[in-house]
Formats: sequence, structure tokens, C-alpha cells
Amino acid sequence: RRNSTGSLAGGAAKDNAGVPGRVRVAVRLRPRNAEELVEDADFADCVELQPELKRLKLRKNNWDSDTYEFDEVLTEFASQKRVYEVVAKPVVESVLDGYNGTIMAYGQTGTGKTYTLGRLGEEDTAARGIMVRAMEDILADVSLETDSVSVSYLQLYMETIQDLLDPANDNIPIVEDPKTGDVSVPGATLVEIRDQHSFVELLRLGEAHRFAANTKLNTESSRSHAILMVHVKRSVKARDSAFSSENGNSPHMKTLKPSLVRKGKLVVVDLAGSERIDKSGQTSFLVLNKLEVYWDSVWARFAPCLGGGGCGGWGLVKLYKEDKDREEKKKERSLCCSGLRCIQGSEGHTLEEAKSINLSLSALGKCINALAENSAHVPVRDSKLTRLLKDSFGGTARTSLVITIGPSPRHRGETASTIMFGQRAMKVENMLKLKEEFDYKSLARRLDIQLDKLIAEHER
Ligand code: ADP
Ligand code: MG
Repeated sequence: RRNSTGSLAGGAAKDNAGVPGRVRVAVRLRPRNAEELVEDADFADCVELQPELKRLKLRKNNWDSDTYEFDEVLTEFASQKRVYEVVAKPVVESVLDGYNGTIMAYGQTGTGKTYTLGRLGEEDTAARGIMVRAMEDILADVSLETDSVSVSYLQLYMETIQDLLDPANDNIPIVEDPKTGDVSVPGATLVEIRDQHSFVELLRLGEAHRFAANTKLNTESSRSHAILMVHVKRSVKARDSAFSSENGNSPHMKTLKPSLVRKGKLVVVDLAGSERIDKSGQTSFLVLNKLEVYWDSVWARFAPCLGGGGCGGWGLVKLYKEDKDREEKKKERSLCCSGLRCIQGSEGHTLEEAKSINLSLSALGKCINALAENSAHVPVRDSKLTRLLKDSFGGTARTSLVITIGPSPRHRGETASTIMFGQRAMKVENMLKLKEEFDYKSLARRLDIQLDKLIAEHER
């Protein structure tokens, strides 16, 4: 007698058939950074934004460009507040109403995913990102006497889920409810949130653990996905309920009267960098200490660490930029390139590792393609990320995606592929469903009877 949302059938099924809700996609352009201001000074940005028309033009050359439409187009001048309002707020409001919601950032490393989602903004409150603002809105709306808000924070790296709130918990399984098909990670630390301050502390702790875990594994956080889950459980007054009064009038209801709860879940995903990684695990550029170093366009020199601690890992080589004259730089570049090849050959992170490092991200791309094309088979089971996001794409959640791009003409290729990802995601239809159910658990506790007995009695 239960439908797929875990609610009782009958009135609920009639009133909770679902509301169509397409995945919404916004594009956000990062302002030029200091290097781009200097190095690309003579070049136009690779994109031109027309926010009123919700259009983006990607330059092909000086004369020609391709035009794309998005749900929102956010220029380099868009404030964090505005980004929150267009990308996140409708999703947060849905979660408060008892729906699942997803907010996700996709884009090349260094284009502003973490800035958009994860900025704590303590030094500058105007810079607060989506996670912080979402919790502010949630805490302002719930009543902590009757409702509860709890959080878990995870990292997914090479198909392993790590608990960012408890580093010892470093291989958490995904559990699938055999009846409803809902996925969850019950092994993750769940912390109840009562005030904004403790939430920000929790995010900070998670970030510190993420940094430590990545240092230990000699990886980059740009290679892993960070996933914040916020569970909002609210009690519902009978008259506000989506259930019809039939159930309420049954004699069993009168004796047992479990209260109704709505369980909205907000998932915020800061995805791994979308840049392509070749077979050796090499990206076309390195990111180190927030300094981006490009193979063929920036002159760089090895730190004296060949074979030492700073080398190896995913093509992560200690490089530092030198401001010398061109000839000197040229010499250094050839040293740099031959050195890197040598490291690739000898250090040899396995091909398997290179493949699985972005397995989840390519699986997500495949699922979105399949959904966009209404294909019969959506390969959800191919990766942990797609399993975790099962409800977010083609499921019952309200989903908002922000794709982040940089202005540099040197990354035109990566920018184009990010745009195409966003365009396909816009075709994905979800069917929003209210997550309302009877709170048998607390009633069973209160009456001190067994849960399954209570459910059997109530559903008779
Ligand atoms: P990602 O998470 O996609 O790798 P980050 O969020 O770390 O990228 O951003 C890279 C750099 O660009 C950071 O120094 C960040 O502060 C800066 N940045 C990103 N987006 C913006 C923006 N909209 N305005 C100002 N600075 C930004
Ligand atoms: Mg980041």
C-alpha cells in the first residue's frame, strides 16, 4: 500500500502524482583573474553574454560565434546574492516544502564552482556562497521545536565515499531501499544543526578534512566531488497535508494517529573539474597553489624536487612561474616538458587510476545524455555519483545546475564542452514529488510498541 515515495497510497497517490520540473541550468562567467588580465590582454573573452536575452555567444573566430540559450545567464558582475537567488533559492524553498532538491556546479577547475557553492564569506559577508545562504534560509523558516535539520558532508574520490565530518570513516557504502529504490548513505555522520554558526564551523571542519585527505593521497581536491546533504524534517498539520481525509477518518487512525512529516533533502554537489584527463592521468594544465600553469603557453620551471616529495601524483609537479626574459624562459620550458614526460613514464600512476578518477563524472555525462534523448536505458548504476544523484536527474527532485566558465580564449575547447553539458542537462525532465509520510517511528516510540506492528495495524 505504499507508493514509491514511501507515502501511503490512497489520497496521497491522487494528490501526489508529481509535478513536472525540468532541470534548470544557469551559466556563470568568472571575471578575468590577474594572469588573464595580463596574458590575454590583447584577446577578447571567448564568450559574450547577453543576460537580458538569457543568451551566451561562444566565439568561433573574430567574425563568427555560436549562440546558446540558458535559463539564466550570470555575467562576471553578478553578485553572490543574485546567484543564490536565481540558482538556489527556488530549490531551497522546495526542500522546505518537503521535496528533494539538488544544486550542482559543473565546470573546468578554476572557473568558480567552489566560489559559487562553498564560500564561507566570513571576511566579506557579501561573498557568502550558496551552502551558507541556503542554511540561513532553512534555519529562518523551520521551527526547531517541531522540525529538525541535519547535515552530512562527503567526498567522492575514485569511487570511494569519504566522510568529511569523520576522516576515519573513509569507505561509506551506498544503501538502496529495496522497496522504494531510494538511495541513502546511512553510514555517514549526521549532525543536527541548530544555529548558523555551528553549520559554518562544520563546513570549515569538512574543508580541513578534505584538504588533509587529499594531501595524504597526494591528490587535488579538483579531482574529487564534495557532496553536502541537508535533511529537513518538518511536522505537518493535518489540514496542510496532501493526504486526503479518508485516512484521517478511519477508525485505526483515530486510535493510533501517527503525525505526518515532510522530509525534504537538499543535496549540494561541488563536482570535480570537468577538464579532460588523458590516459596517463595528465590534464592539459596543472593547478598548484591556485596558480594555473599551462603546458604550452606558460613558461615554468621545476622546483628542485625531481624524484623528491613534490613530484608525482597526477602530473602534479612543483612548478613556479619565473619572470625572466624570453630566451631564459624558452630553455626552462624545454626542461619542463622533457622532465614531465620522464615523470609520467617512471612515476606511472596506473591507467586504472587515471580511468576511475573521472569515472563518476563521465558516467554523469552519459546519464544526462541518455535522459536528454529519452533513451530507454539510463546507466545510473555505472558510478557512485550517478547512484547518489539518481533522484536529481530524471527523479523526483527539483534540480538546479550552474555551469561555470572562464573568459580565457585559451580554454575555448573546455568552455565549449561545459556549455554543451549544460545544454543537454536543460533537456532533463524530473517529476517532483512531495516526500510526505506518517511518522510511525516516533509514535511507536511514544506508545512503546514495535514499529512493524504499528505499521501493520495502521495500514490494515
Ligand atoms: P573551482 O572550484 O571551479 O576550481 P574556484 O571556486 O576555486 O574554482 O575559483 C578559482 C579562483 O577564482 C578562486 O581564487 C576564486 O576566488 C576566483 N573566483 C571564482 N569565481 C569568482 C567570481 N565570480 N568573482 C571573483 N572571483 C572568483
Ligand atoms: Mg573547487
